[in-house]
Amino acid sequence: MERAALVTGGTRGIGKSISVRLHDVGYNVVASYANDDTAAKEFNRKTGIPVVRFDVGDWKSTQIGLERAQEIVGNIDVLINNAGITRDKSLHKMSDRNWQEVIQVDLNSCFNTCKCLINSMREKRYGRIVNISSVNAQKGQLGQTNYSAAKAGIIGFTKALALENANKGITVNAVAPGYIDTDMVRSISEQTLNNIIAEIPVGRLGRPDEVARVVEFLVSDDSEFITGSTISINGGQYMI
Ligand code: NDP
Repeated sequence: MERAALVTGGTRGIGKSISVRLHDVGYNVVASYANDDTAAKEFNRKTGIPVVRFDVGDWKSTQIGLERAQEIVGNIDVLINNAGITRDKSLHKMSDRNWQEVIQVDLNSCFNTCKCLINSMREKRYGRIVNISSVNAQKGQLGQTNYSAAKAGIIGFTKALALENANKGITVNAVAPGYIDTDMVRSISEQTLNNIIAEIPVGRLGRPDEVARVVEFLVSDDSEFITGSTISINGGQYMI
């Protein structure tokens, strides 16, 4: 049976690789995005995967966006909470807005999407949820109190939601990528990026598809005994 999958932030970067991989192995995928219409149109033109625009950090916008998404692909069985942003600043320079935006988009988004979809998954007694956390949730990072807090919050959220739904055929897992070669990482200064790469034992950035393959496994039937886990994908940068 063809399963319907939503990948938030699924039109660029890691999300794009996840959307394409799930589409290629037979899922009925819809990808969401926030602002970049040009990238979303190009993604849709090249892949044929439908796109919906909504703000995952906003409850009402998410409700409406998910209704639209489900009009396109049917009831969502597989949810990948991938959309995320950074607003890096040391805490003593961080504005309230920098803090709130990251918590809304990176953490509240998981509440918004899961709250909208969990009841139908429970009724169906089937669901796969994968939340994208970060190595910086596990180890902390300078200038990222907002991001590290949001991404660490995702790990706790994942475990609690996994417990609540373990006997309903629903698995909930997180993946914690290290530094992956996407626009988000390319926006870091060259000097800082070189310093980061020097700390990665494998000696390079990760590739988006290396994250997508793990997500593909976590949503497959082969992984139904894995729930509440956080899988690190970081080239040995941080071992937990
Ligand atoms: P990108 O910046 O390349 O892409 C982010 C995607 O999220 C875009 O599709 C963007 O939409 C979407 N998005 C952003 N804000 C919102 C919002 N409010 N509502 C809906 N969609 C939104 O990010 P990456 O691919 O690098 O990162 C993907 C995820 O992986 C993020 O959660 C990130 O924190 C996490 N991660 C990334 C790492 C890395 O090294 N790249 C490392 C660890 C974790 P639009 O195109 O419209 O802007």
